[in-house]
Amino acid sequence: MKIICIGRNYAEHAKELKNPLPAEPVFFMKPESAQLRNNLPFFYPDFSNEIHYEAELVLHINKVGKNIQEKFAHTYYDGIGVGIDFTARDLQQKAKEKGLPWEMAKAFDFSAPVSRFLPISDFPDLNDITFGLYKNGEIVQKGNSRDMIFSFDAIIAYVSKFVTLKQGDYIFTGTPAGVGPVKIGDRLEAFIGNEKMLLCNIR
Ligand code: MG
Repeated sequence: MKIICIGRNYAEHAKELKNPLPAEPVFFMKPESAQLRNNLPFFYPDFSNEIHYEAELVLHINKVGKNIQEKFAHTYYDGIGVGIDFTARDLQQKAKEKGLPWEMAKAFDFSAPVSRFLPISDFPDLNDITFGLYKNGEIVQKGNSRDMIFSFDAIIAYVSKFVTLKQGDYIFTGTPAGVGPVKIGDRLEAFIGNEKMLLCNIR
């Protein structure tokens, strides 16, 4: 499986990182070795001094698809969860300045904690899903899928032009404003609506 991540999909977050709004979805990938499941702790890596959290809604892909039309895209995912796109912001900044790829900063081991998935039938409106991230009990990020620049279905249509989606893949759909650093000892908790979905202790 693979993890596809969308960047700059919330205008307020693009602004906070001083990035222009994209005209088309920006995406990158994390390998299978990036996933962290079952609320296991995240061990702060020694190659970075600036690991940031980015809480994101995550789609669970349920069948293989290529060149998917947007009107059929909703049949290619069956679950929605929440994940954290951990980012080594110091390495990412250096890579950006040199025009180099982001893998070191984004695709490292266990950089993608992911919750369980809720069936899409649990959601009355996929364009109105609230989610949030708490750090040490205080809310740091609040998002709603209605604020995405590119909808779930638009993302699937776009990405599948380039990359075949397969059952079991995840798509991280972008983070709202409020990203920030973690340090050893922090406790991250992610919610969808009022439901606690994910716990991630930083060790
Ligand atoms: Mg992200």
